[in-house]
Amino acid sequence: MILEIFCKVVRPLANRVCEGTLARRRHLASTKCELSVRYVGAKSESVSRVDPVQGGGRTEDQNRSRVDPVQGGRREKENHMKGYIHSIESFGSADGPGIRFIIFLKGCALRCKYCHNVDTWVMKNNEFPAKVRLATGEVAEISVDHAFKDDIREVEEILDMAERYRNYWGETGGITVSGGEPLLQADFLLELLTEAKKRGMNTCIDTAGQPFISEGAAFEKIQDIIEKTDLVLLDIKHIDPEEHKRLTGHSNENILEFAKYLDSIHKPVWIRHVLVPGITDVDEYLEETADFLSTLSNVERIDVLPYHSMGVYKWKELGLPYALEGVEAPSKERVENAKRILSRALNK
Ligand code: SF4
Repeated sequence: MILEIFCKVVRPLANRVCEGTLARRRHLASTKCELSVRYVGAKSESVSRVDPVQGGGRTEDQNRSRVDPVQGGRREKENHMKGYIHSIESFGSADGPGIRFIIFLKGCALRCKYCHNVDTWVMKNNEFPAKVRLATGEVAEISVDHAFKDDIREVEEILDMAERYRNYWGETGGITVSGGEPLLQADFLLELLTEAKKRGMNTCIDTAGQPFISEGAAFEKIQDIIEKTDLVLLDIKHIDPEEHKRLTGHSNENILEFAKYLDSIHKPVWIRHVLVPGITDVDEYLEETADFLSTLSNVERIDVLPYHSMGVYKWKELGLPYALEGVEAPSKERVENAKRILSRALNK
């Protein structure tokens, strides 16, 4: 009788308790597993924080931004890097071959007097009000009232958006990452390009090369980025170091070094040169630019971009003084002259 009660009541009850315990253990085990995946992600993030690529022209504010988990790309879980986006253009035709899906990133340390994207200079809204030293040396403040809302997006989200336009790209199109200065968000850029290549996309970056450093971890990061880039659109702002400083607030030494590095690894490059009357539209400087470009064997194309003042309204909206007030666009003849001089570098 006692044995019968044991078999019918106590044992099933005991089994149920055991199953419950096992189920709880299984649940805990899977929770632990999830946590360990997140931990791996967190480790990756800490690696990305030591990246000194953004060191070129860093301000105190930018240094502080390293502790912001989104800065330079945040990895919450695998393949979920985030970047600060200024805007996206789905049908670009001027920034690389074919039809391009263009991602404009925020952040730039140059202060080109003719910049028509001054609203990309400051990377994050929490950096406002931001003091910016203009190329003239004047320090101006951009207040948060004028700032755009932060647009923080994941790599996967951007590439999924780009995929929607893939049918229009044909053989030559793809994605272009521009800015601002895309190399300032080096971790995010690397992840974006790496994932884009996995999806078989053609990749371009449009850069002024300002963050380039030729040694250390920063250089390794740039090497990785360039490896995932099919074509570099390189802006040469001015060939003369002093004039470059007057025009952008920074020397061009490391930018010309960057051009030489790209040549040394045979990376295809398209040069872009903004023609500004009285600043770059000077035959002597154009000849010097052609001389320099002639030393490179990887330049496939040179675009002369006539200065225009269409971005002046942004300076006004941001309360910044515009140094090129009154400068007119170059004449057709001067644009043709610049093209003729610079083309010497292609027909050598
Ligand atoms: S590099 Fe481009 S975004 Fe930066 S200041 Fe110059 S024109 Fe503006």
